[in-house]
Amino acid sequence: MIDHWAVANSYRVRIVAFALVGVPIALHILPPGPGLLIWTLVALQFLVYPHLMQWRTSRAGNPARAEFDNLVVDSALCGAWAAALGFPSWISTALLLVNLLNHTIARGLPGVLFCLLAFVSGALVSTTVIAFHVSTDTSGLVTLATIIGLAIYLSLMGIASYSYVRQLREVQEAVDRQKRTLEDANAALYEQIDKIHDLQEMLRDQANRDSLTGLFNRRYLEGTLEREMARCKREGAPLSMLLLDLDHFKLVNDSYGHLAGDEVLRVFSRALQDNARTEDIVCRYGGEEFLLVLPKMPLAIARERAAQLLKLFRDTTVAFEKLHIPVTTSIGIAAAPEHSDSAEGLIRCADQALYNAKSRGRDQAVAFGDKGRV
Ligand code: GH3
Ligand code: MG
Ligand code: MG
Repeated sequence: MIDHWAVANSYRVRIVAFALVGVPIALHILPPGPGLLIWTLVALQFLVYPHLMQWRTSRAGNPARAEFDNLVVDSALCGAWAAALGFPSWISTALLLVNLLNHTIARGLPGVLFCLLAFVSGALVSTTVIAFHVSTDTSGLVTLATIIGLAIYLSLMGIASYSYVRQLREVQEAVDRQKRTLEDANAALYEQIDKIHDLQEMLRDQANRDSLTGLFNRRYLEGTLEREMARCKREGAPLSMLLLDLDHFKLVNDSYGHLAGDEVLRVFSRALQDNARTEDIVCRYGGEEFLLVLPKMPLAIARERAAQLLKLFRDTTVAFEKLHIPVTTSIGIAAAPEHSDSAEGLIRCADQALYNAKSRGRDQAVAFGDKGRV
């Protein structure tokens, strides 16, 4: 199977070209009545030879290489014919043109050089063997046959080029369409990946947030507190913690209903968040317990902050339906490094302080180790 385009192309082109130049040559040698040998030579050269070359190519290990060699042999033989006939002008021109075109189609510009070299070499060998003679005249009939042959040949080449270019354009268009489809698919894929990333981020955020209040949850705190403490320790900065527990919250639920209790939790969560610095971490630690991590805040400032929050709770009544619900809170304060330098230890200290605030009467803030009120 010969699938190199130049090979398949050359085969068809050679059959046509040789048949077309064979006709005027046959007409040219007709008048003196050439012998059987000459006619046999003409038939072999212009009818049988192209198929022999194709057969040779089909058996070659490298068909493209073999076909390029065939083209050189074509030109050499045509040069030999031109010289043997005494360089008849129209026939020689046709032989050279046809070979030039065949060569350039297969090899491009180098084909011109190969063709000319082979043509001249063939002519030289022929003149050496048969003797040099020049007889450029051709009869009207031969001239006409050559012109018709050339016209047919050039037209066929034009048609072949046109269909080849059209095929190429169709392939190019199909490739462009595929490329656009792929680009669209790629863009859609990137869009999907972005959506997945957004969703993952949302899920991660949701996993870290409490659904009722929107504050960070205990799970998030567990991962973050140790990191914050380590950072403050590294920088030699303090870190304070406030643990809040709403006073008599069970009573709020019992008196106003669970929905009212939920609203109280929401309102105070928002208030805690609104009063926090950007670096503070505000968590819902349990049912009605909140934990504030205050990086780089010393104990003295944490006490002031706790006092402000007590006042905020005292001054706020939560509107629910037609009710205005008053709520107070108790606050336990602990600070690193003075109370503990571990996350767990600091929470335990804040819890202990909160317990003290509760047992001393609620609505107050107590720091770990304090004897009296803030
Ligand atoms: P104390 O002053 O000692 O803290 O009294 P308390 O009533 O606040 O203490 P307790 O821990 O006994 O009550 C907490 C209540 O908080 C009990 C529970 O029903 C309620 N609670 C916990 N989570 C929620 C919630 O998400 N919504 C509502 N509405 N109530 C909740
Ligand atoms: Mg509680
Ligand atoms: Mg409580």
